Amino acid sequence: MGAPKAPPLPESVNARYGLKNSGVDRTSRRGYNYVSTAAKDMWERLFDESYRADVSIITSDCSSIPAHASILGMASPVFKSMLKKSRKRGRRHTISVRGVPHQAVRVFIRFLYSSCYEQEEMNENVLPLLVLSHVFMVPSLKRECEQQLENQLLNDDNVVDVFQISLLCDAPRLSIFCHRLILKNFTTISATEGWRVMKKSHPMLEKELVESAIEADSRKRERLRKMEERKIYHQLYEAMEALVHICRDGCRTIGPHDKVLKGNEAPCDFSACKGLELLVRHFAGCKLRVPGGCVHCKRMWQLLELHSRLCSEPNECKVPLCRNFKEKIQQQTKKDEMKWKILVKKILRAKNIAGAPFFSSALAIGAS
Ligand SMILES: [Zn+2]
Ligand SMILES: [Zn+2]
Ligand SMILES: [Zn+2]
Repeated sequence: MGAPKAPPLPESVNARYGLKNSGVDRTSRRGYNYVSTAAKDMWERLFDESYRADVSIITSDCSSIPAHASILGMASPVFKSMLKKSRKRGRRHTISVRGVPHQAVRVFIRFLYSSCYEQEEMNENVLPLLVLSHVFMVPSLKRECEQQLENQLLNDDNVVDVFQISLLCDAPRLSIFCHRLILKNFTTISATEGWRVMKKSHPMLEKELVESAIEADSRKRERLRKMEERKIYHQLYEAMEALVHICRDGCRTIGPHDKVLKGNEAPCDFSACKGLELLVRHFAGCKLRVPGGCVHCKRMWQLLELHSRLCSEPNECKVPLCRNFKEKIQQQTKKDEMKWKILVKKILRAKNIAGAPFFSSALAIGAS
């Protein structure tokens, strides 16, 4: 008989053992199969003390970092094939990793040993680390760099560089992130040093970015214009509703169109009535009161005509001139008819009026 199974560790113990700032941290906690700090410390010591190291990595400043062929080869298929071809100098292989700062190579190699890094080192070296992890095919570190950039390290100053590197390093998600940020803060970003350098070294890329920024800008304008338009049609629809309400029910703010407002009652809570109030009062009192006579009356005429276009029951309708307009419609030109039909359609669409109280059957007109 075996010993009884140990109970699973509580979450807090795992958290205590979780490795700070490490990509392994997340995966290691899964299923309580964590890497203890002792194991992590041992791998770090192996790197720091380079016990029986058999590789020298030569960096840009010609200094070298000692490492172990077995670990490099296991962590990266690229190192594996480099080691196969590398010549031995004395008892050690020599491998050259240039083009990125010495410190970045150090952080990179350390990660190959312990899957750990200090946040400060990541902040300083995230771009060379992204390049190294791509070139040496270390997907766990590459993912970590991409996440670090997406979540916190990407900003207006480095986004142009990150964007170019993300394209070179085949990091499509990150490049979309960058592209979005560039479009969002285009004015600021296109004035950065990074942008200036890109413009010189990759003029086509700069051109494409400018074009997509212009495109995004016009899309935004178009969206705003449509929103504004919809708002106006929506207001028109509400005015139409209010007109019917005023003429049919009588309104406590304005009163029935042909009666005098009663005294001290509370005003109507139909919000569109407020908007129509002045116009209706003016129309009732204006001496000119003919289409084209005065701007306010002209507006009122237009609203009345619009109502008639929307109204489905001209025979019972209490709105003035509703039927007269219906008759006039018969004599209008094709051009006028189209104009009105389009307007009616837009108003109805703006309100999205399935089941709207006043103009339900007018939908048929709008949709035709
Ligand atoms: Zn009212
Ligand atoms: Zn007038
Ligand atoms: Zn009517």
